Amino acid sequence: MRRTKIIATLGPATDEPGILEDLFKAGVDVFRLNYSHQTHAHHERRLKEIRTLSKKYTRAVGVMADLQGPKIRIEHFNGGKVQLVEGAEFIIDTDLDSEAGDEKHVGVSYKNLPRDVRAGDTLLIDDGRIVMRVKDVGEHNVRCEVLTGGELSNNKGLNLQGGGLSASALTDKDKHDLKHAVSIGVDFVAVSFPRVASDITQTRELLEQLDSNALIIAKIERAEALDDIEAIIEASDAIMIARGDLGVEIGDASLPPVQKRLTKMARGMDRAVIIATQMMESMIEHQIPTRAEVFDVANAVIDGTDAVMLSAETSVGHFPVKAVASMSNICEEAEKQKSVTVSDHRINRRFESINEAIAMSTMYAANHIGAKAIAALTETGGTCLWMSRIKSGIPIFAFTRHSSTRRRVSLYRGVYPMKFDITHTDPLEANKEIIEELMKHNFVKEGDYIIITKGDLRGRRGGTNNMKLLRVGEATEHTI
Ligand code: PGA
Ligand code: MN
Repeated sequence: MRRTKIIATLGPATDEPGILEDLFKAGVDVFRLNYSHQTHAHHERRLKEIRTLSKKYTRAVGVMADLQGPKIRIEHFNGGKVQLVEGAEFIIDTDLDSEAGDEKHVGVSYKNLPRDVRAGDTLLIDDGRIVMRVKDVGEHNVRCEVLTGGELSNNKGLNLQGGGLSASALTDKDKHDLKHAVSIGVDFVAVSFPRVASDITQTRELLEQLDSNALIIAKIERAEALDDIEAIIEASDAIMIARGDLGVEIGDASLPPVQKRLTKMARGMDRAVIIATQMMESMIEHQIPTRAEVFDVANAVIDGTDAVMLSAETSVGHFPVKAVASMSNICEEAEKQKSVTVSDHRINRRFESINEAIAMSTMYAANHIGAKAIAALTETGGTCLWMSRIKSGIPIFAFTRHSSTRRRVSLYRGVYPMKFDITHTDPLEANKEIIEELMKHNFVKEGDYIIITKGDLRGRRGGTNNMKLLRVGEATEHTI
């Protein structure tokens, strides 16, 4: 059983007949709707298809809406693209007609650009493929010298090296998209380009106004976000290490240590982590990944990530299903390593609540006695999140009556959703029923140790105060 979760981005390639179902069968845990592309109606249709598949295969999967955020893009060239030569002058002009770009200049919709950049700054276009140095800045334009030329086509992204663009994270389009995402019932909302924690709390307030309990994923993709990283993680439910834009801003060579540091930090703060972008990039065109990509995915697993993400590999790639299958296989192999499942059990930490103490004690006991399964009766999935912050090879089954909880735990490493309504179960039969359910799926067999956690007050959030260590096969009737 793979513990690391796989997120797949939907796009034209996954709209081909049968592909979504094949992705589902290949083991995707969370599907990502990219609100930078496509219409609302399109996203809604995809979500409905996912929910239908979920019913057909009785497996909960999550859906993430990824908001576009203030991504800065150049506008259009009158010929669709231009060839830029090193040493030439090139002007980025906020006043230019959006279709009128050519070899000399191009428009940009971000009107604040001239105020955010200075002479000497480096601008990176198209993920850093085109590099320009700012020579001087006028009221409506930024005059540059091309340092690295090449072909440049419409709508390519623009980043400032080192960060410093002032746009706030939630644009009007994002607010509009957020409403839509909530209305169709997504489980996760990813906020693009947050700079400070208030970008996340503002999103949380909007979600509350919309009466949504979707989890918030902060995409770490701006240099400045690293300066406020602790507060940003604290304000969010999960972070995405968005290596595409982040790499452009801080330099690719700085990414590996940042990935490792942030993964550890988020886990330590009881937040989930997603590692994203170019993990299997060559599989857009090819049927097998490069060795470097195999190592990249395996290293992410070893770093302790909850999930690894596929972007263009599934959205526009030629082999979306193979990309998922291959990634899944790499995760499973990496998880066989001992160091990935051995934990320090937070030996130096104080627990803040009864739930947390039970969750940690459960992991300690389970890891040390060699339990085969943990069954957590949960309302919100919170206990399972805690448990899954502790490294382990033991599956954590989230038994819950709420479909929304089953979908949200789809992101957490080593946590597997199970449908179970404690409020309709005789408390004296619950242990027996849980064990029977796990036996039915061959997760445990006679003689195995299993730990069940639950609360005295059934159906109450945050009420976990019991941990029961049982041996499968021993009498469990009429025990609470
Ligand atoms: P994007 O975010 O795919 O929305 O750009 C991920 C990243 O920047 O890595
Ligand atoms: Mn990005």
